[in-house]
Amino acid sequence: KITISNIKKAFGSNNILKGIDLEIQDGSFTILLGPSGCGKSTLLRIIAGLEEPTSGNLLINEEDVTYEEPKDRNIAMVFQNYALYPHMTVYKNIEYGLKIKKVPKQEREEIISNVLKMVELTDHVNKRPAQLSGGQRQRVALARAIVKRPHAFLMDEPLSNLDAKLRNQMRQELIELHRQLKTTFLYVTHDQVEAMSMGSYIIIMNQGEIMQQGTPKEIYTNPANLFVAQFIGSPP
Ligand code: ATP
Ligand code: MG
Repeated sequence: KITISNIKKAFGSNNILKGIDLEIQDGSFTILLGPSGCGKSTLLRIIAGLEEPTSGNLLINEEDVTYEEPKDRNIAMVFQNYALYPHMTVYKNIEYGLKIKKVPKQEREEIISNVLKMVELTDHVNKRPAQLSGGQRQRVALARAIVKRPHAFLMDEPLSNLDAKLRNQMRQELIELHRQLKTTFLYVTHDQVEAMSMGSYIIIMNQGEIMQQGTPKEIYTNPANLFVAQFIGSPP
């Protein structure tokens, strides 16, 4: 479980996060939804440890990790631009994190062979990122995160660089991947349709505050305020 307790973040005199309280349940597919600039990426970066909050606390399984290094949190972040190593093959890209963890070669081969099947990249293992499609690159980034067996996957608009058809396909693949892994997914988007169709639990943010949280159905049928109603387009 990830517990966010009164997290605030200011950049200079701009209060970007205004006291966020949240619990993200283990194994959930949680969506963080809100308009551009509302603070979604900032919150995600704080959870991943890439940014320090101005105040507040972050707990992972009841343990305070607010000031711990990203590598000690066991949380995987999948970025919009995938951040693959361009000079390395698909195989080497996935293997890198395992080598750092000093996983023995034979075990590495086994883990990578399994994950390649899972993300359907077995036939592309010797290509470099430039030789792959956007969707395939996205799957390499996922594979690289999966082999680290993280406590949670944080995804910041991971499909926004893909065309509509591929985006739709990847949405289905992510749902299936979540079903297989049973790990927490925290998925950021500003796309209402994506949020309502993918997640089992949705958190709606606006201007650094949580507006509402609940299942897609709860939010759609019973929006907490006018902003939520207009943003997700529920019937008046
Ligand atoms: P989008 O949907 O466009 O990605 P977002 O909800 O992810 O938006 P953030 O990236 O969290 O929004 O940014 C929230 C606000 O914080 C913005 O106004 C942004 O300009 C500001 N901000 C983010 N990072 C910094 C920074 N390092 N220094 C100063 N201001 C920042
Ligand atoms: Mg963002």
